[in-house]
Amino acid sequence: MSLARRGLCLVLAAPSGAGKTSITRALLQAEPELALSVSVTTRTPRPGEQEGVHYFFRSQAAFDAMVGRGELLEWAGVFSRSYGSPRAPVEAALAAGRDIVFDIDWQGHRQLRAALPGDVVGLFILPPSLTELEARLRGRGGDTEAEIARRMAQARDEMSHAPEFDHVLVNDDFEQTVAQTRAVLQAARLATARQIGLAAFLAAPNMRMTPE
Ligand code: 5GP
Repeated sequence: MSLARRGLCLVLAAPSGAGKTSITRALLQAEPELALSVSVTTRTPRPGEQEGVHYFFRSQAAFDAMVGRGELLEWAGVFSRSYGSPRAPVEAALAAGRDIVFDIDWQGHRQLRAALPGDVVGLFILPPSLTELEARLRGRGGDTEAEIARRMAQARDEMSHAPEFDHVLVNDDFEQTVAQTRAVLQAARLATARQIGLAAFLAAPNMRMTPE
């Protein structure tokens, strides 16, 4: 049994190549109640990416119009493209006691914390080492030396923001990382401040103790 509670925003941030996308996917599979915040982006879709599933793909003008109308909770320029999190689905989910996971960068995390004080749990995922990160980036294939150097510089920059997050872990064992991420989520769900049903429970605790 659980008390009525407000939903939460779980932000997963990591340098590119640290395994964030696979972790997010595994987390969503293991936690059917958890929804992904689908971001808006001005970049073009990669093969296999679907509109409304991985991103909402928009022109810069359409993106700017969304910003102007206040439809994004946070937005940032990443790799010279714009990315942002739509506001309406998040506000509806929080009020309904549903949790949302965000695959966004440190800039988004910082803005989200300001936009939704008390509702954000930040988890930063580190690679085992920069050498390992570089090996993973090279393992993907397809990137030029210049591209790899740029991504490594970007990774160092992203990692310098790890201290801003509530939790930090090192992804050297995928299964363990997913288990630790779930543990962070479970603990955050039980935070006293989230239990909007606590006062009602304490006022009439026997109401809840009747056998099913
Ligand atoms: P990609 O283009 O590889 O999908 O994402 C590039 C980076 O942008 C990743 O670090 C990702 O977490 C970040 N990102 C994706 N969506 C958002 C968003 O809505 N807001 C912010 N601030 N960053 C995002």
